[in-house]
Amino acid sequence: MPELPDLEVVKSNLEKRILGFEVADLKFLKRSVGKPSPELVEEALKGEKVSAIARRGKYTVLHFESGAALLIHLMLEGELDLKPAGAPVEKGTCAVLSFKEGQEIHFIDQRGWMKLYFIPPGELEKTKELKELGPEPFDPAFTPEYLSEVLQKFRGTVKFALMEQKFLAGIGNAYSDEILFCARISPSRPARELSEREKDFLYKCILDTLRWGTEEARKRMGDRVRGEIREFLNVHGKEGEPCPRCGTKIVRIEIEGRGTYFCPRCQK
Ligand SMILES: [Zn+2]
Repeated sequence: MPELPDLEVVKSNLEKRILGFEVADLKFLKRSVGKPSPELVEEALKGEKVSAIARRGKYTVLHFESGAALLIHLMLEGELDLKPAGAPVEKGTCAVLSFKEGQEIHFIDQRGWMKLYFIPPGELEKTKELKELGPEPFDPAFTPEYLSEVLQKFRGTVKFALMEQKFLAGIGNAYSDEILFCARISPSRPARELSEREKDFLYKCILDTLRWGTEEARKRMGDRVRGEIREFLNVHGKEGEPCPRCGTKIVRIEIEGRGTYFCPRCQK
């Protein structure tokens, strides 16, 4: 699932490539992807011009000149691809958004779980999906004190606390592993048992890891908007490979059904 670093790259690459473009047409090939209804979204976006692109948590937001917005959630496996007009539609394509300038965004999801929500002007801040989200990691509202308080209240593992979107927006299964590797904390530790010192270091690791991940992803993605790049990560997906810090083999465990990777020696 794309997370904050992946989606930051998608956002800036879309900015470079479609800002100011005018919507010629939107067609849903999988009707359940369009919310509140595919007909409404198709009709509402015609003639709209893209005025800004934003990210909030795991949502990508296309803003239009009228004040309306399209809120995109890629869910587990969804992807965007920018293609020339008339490009063949591949298997799993759920929607095609075409611009007068001769480019198309293809929304691709083999599972068909991704969602595109049309938001009327002035409604974005009020939408349920965004209201439920906690602060962004780089927002001034996210402070060491806030993190400490949230972990203290959380009944579950520290890994799950980091992935809880209502506490902190944008982190998922891959970057929670990387953050905990940076912080030398085992993912299965109960969140409320972390010491103040560990929590302070964890705070720094959240920001450092997301910044690093965004830079690395940007280097590797170029100006593409499709895909998520994971090969440069330290522990996530690296079962059996040596820990880059101490050489011990990386272990995979399941925490509440999610594949979780860590170094059993230097993460305590
Ligand atoms: Zn290690």
